[in-house]
Amino acid sequence: MRKGGKIIVQKFGGTSVANFDRMRRAVSHVIREYSKGNKVVVVVSAMAGETDRLLNLGKSATEKIYPDELDVVASTGEQISSAIFSMILRENGINAKSFLAHQIRILTDDNFTDARIVKIETDKLMDFINSGGVPVVAGFQGVTTDGRITTIGRGGSDTTAVAVASAIKAYICEIYTDVSGVFTTDPNLVQNAKKINFVSYEEMMELASLGAKVLQIRSVEIGARFGIPIHVRNTFSDELGTLVCYPERIQELKEFYKISSL
Ligand code: ASP
Ligand code: MG
Repeated sequence: MRKGGKIIVQKFGGTSVANFDRMRRAVSHVIREYSKGNKVVVVVSAMAGETDRLLNLGKSATEKIYPDELDVVASTGEQISSAIFSMILRENGINAKSFLAHQIRILTDDNFTDARIVKIETDKLMDFINSGGVPVVAGFQGVTTDGRITTIGRGGSDTTAVAVASAIKAYICEIYTDVSGVFTTDPNLVQNAKKINFVSYEEMMELASLGAKVLQIRSVEIGARFGIPIHVRNTFSDELGTLVCYPERIQELKEFYKISSL
């Protein structure tokens, strides 16, 4: 039984799990928090490019598109990355285990390819966390009440992460990506884009609806509804990124990260 510490959800996007070296860098963030005594739950995207490849494969097989079977194909990207990420954690001495959506039971409606999460069962995750384990949850996937596989829309692993965080009452949901946070404009396109240290849920939703792809908009909605702070940060650096939270939480979160200049 692992007592104390905070529950932290760490989500790693496609570019952060694109190859084994990058996964090792991602794993270092898990180890850092785990070593402090926190309980870590990992959520992973498919390895970069995989979902596009799988969707193209599934769509090219037949003339007509069968969305429910397409979801079975598309969801395999996260099945693979969750298992491999778990292997790398084990190699680093952490008792990790992959969890697919149907194993946890991340229940969604049956709107295949763009389903909505309706409920997440927490028993299996909580038992494993409390035994000192680190679950590695496959993002993007869900399951209907009658057991069919779904996916929850492009960029959906963000939503998996925040929804899991809210279901297990995590302290924070960290979203690790290939940029250092939320920028005034896309840092990959504009050189002097400025990183934002703090942004409200509302502003973040606005940015997302204007095309900022850093977070799936539904993840921000869930964060706002359940008061889960979201920290968008860079996998390949230890610097702090952008906090998406209610203003009254900023001070406490600064203390959590032991910084004064947010
Ligand atoms: N792999 C899925 C996608 O590419 C989900 C995600 O990465 O968030 O859309
Ligand atoms: Mg994304």
